[in-house]
Amino acid sequence: MSTERELDTMKRLPRWLMTTLVAATLLGCGSKTVNPVTGQQERSVMSEQQEVQIGAQGHAEIMKEYTALANPRLQAYVNEIGQRLAKLSHRSNLKWTFTVLDSPEINAFAIPGGYVYITRGIMAYLDSEADLAGVIGHEIGHVTARHGAQRATRQQDAALVGLLGGVLGAVLDAKGGGGIGQQIGEASQAAAAGYVAKYGREQELQADGLGAEYLSRVNYDPRNMIDVIRVLKDQERFAQEVARAEGRPAPQAGNSWLASHPSNDQRLEQINRIAAQYQGNKNYADEGRLRYLQMIDGMPFGESPEQGLTRGRNFYHSSLNFAMTAANGWRIVNEASELNIVSPAGDAALIVQLAPPNAGRTHDEVIRNVVKPTSGRVERYNLGGGIAATHFTGAIAAQGGQRGIELTVATGAGGQQFIMVYAAKDATTLQRNRAALRETENSFRAMTAQDTAAAKPWVLRMSALPRGGFAELATRLPLATLPEQQLKLINGVYSGGNVAAGALVKTVVQ
Ligand SMILES: [Zn+2]
Repeated sequence: MSTERELDTMKRLPRWLMTTLVAATLLGCGSKTVNPVTGQQERSVMSEQQEVQIGAQGHAEIMKEYTALANPRLQAYVNEIGQRLAKLSHRSNLKWTFTVLDSPEINAFAIPGGYVYITRGIMAYLDSEADLAGVIGHEIGHVTARHGAQRATRQQDAALVGLLGGVLGAVLDAKGGGGIGQQIGEASQAAAAGYVAKYGREQELQADGLGAEYLSRVNYDPRNMIDVIRVLKDQERFAQEVARAEGRPAPQAGNSWLASHPSNDQRLEQINRIAAQYQGNKNYADEGRLRYLQMIDGMPFGESPEQGLTRGRNFYHSSLNFAMTAANGWRIVNEASELNIVSPAGDAALIVQLAPPNAGRTHDEVIRNVVKPTSGRVERYNLGGGIAATHFTGAIAAQGGQRGIELTVATGAGGQQFIMVYAAKDATTLQRNRAALRETENSFRAMTAQDTAAAKPWVLRMSALPRGGFAELATRLPLATLPEQQLKLINGVYSGGNVAAGALVKTVVQ
């Protein structure tokens, strides 16, 4: 959870999307623009100037939602590689901005106007400077080929939600490991289906191709794009393995980033074809593995206490000063905008969100302003830590009718209002899980000294691979879930390949 919130009742839509929406709508049916990549004329609702303007607004909002990683050396390094690629791209005239986000999500995205973001989460899984350049090159490709503007243009006549989806799609390029939270609760699912639209397959293939082309232009072997695609594919396979190990149904491909992307095989085939076109250039630069590993040495790995950190059944959030303990068997899924505590069967969840700062001073005001119920009743009680809570059971207006909603409002130690939504597949499921939802809600507390001591982040370190390989290295790891496989995953040998004893590899320490 991030500390800054704007909130719709379920999934918040960043305010900048509304701004973008207004901007895109005002522009009417658009005029002809030449696509910098294809050289073809296309109808567009956004001129380059408007792309830049929307990008600047979007950047400001994204930086409220995310935090830049507090590592000036690493930021400068990523910026330098990004600028090198951008300068040789189809739109060197734009003012390009590259930002490493302090987020454990496996993600990279770009918005119109030349703003590119990469998370520390995905950087942990890349193995060289050339891989990093591949991810950045792909994102630059979305901008140079005007994919965000194309989406906005295509969808300008569609319904409101469709248009919002079109623009948001430009933001959510990759969201690996996501989707777990989307499978819970009907409401959350509907919100996700409505808003989370993505780039089309053709656009993704084009961005891959442009990524490879830009790699070659800055003298990296375009075949490094293959590594990037493998990293993403391995993430999906690992998520399935974890689900199997935990006895859960496998995450549905339909909800993951890869679903919007062309098949791995199709992408690899294309990249190989493109790489072959560059065979004339045999003297590609060194892929910069050691430089890259030195740069990310000491980078936080996984969740950070400032954004919420999960250890076993406990969740700690130091900047919002609260902790919670999940009911036995329940899973904690921490997302940027909300915390989901999900039932063992994945059919119910407690969705914990922060109310917007101006939502109201009393619980009743928060319910009135944020939930906007059409009817309902409240019940007041104290949570375990002595925190006063108001439980609301009622209905809200939904498409073409009413929808039941149940939630609790509680005031945190810092005075912020928290909303805990009881989400379930249906009323029977909610009833069956009510005791566990209550128990979890009841654990809501201010961080204790013990909680603070337990909320220690993990850090990436470089280490020589011991004789016993990843199996031996795994015994020293703080990671609880499939530690050996996780080590192989961050070192790019999850789906095969060997690393010699003594070679430098990434590991995770407390
Ligand atoms: Zn993409």
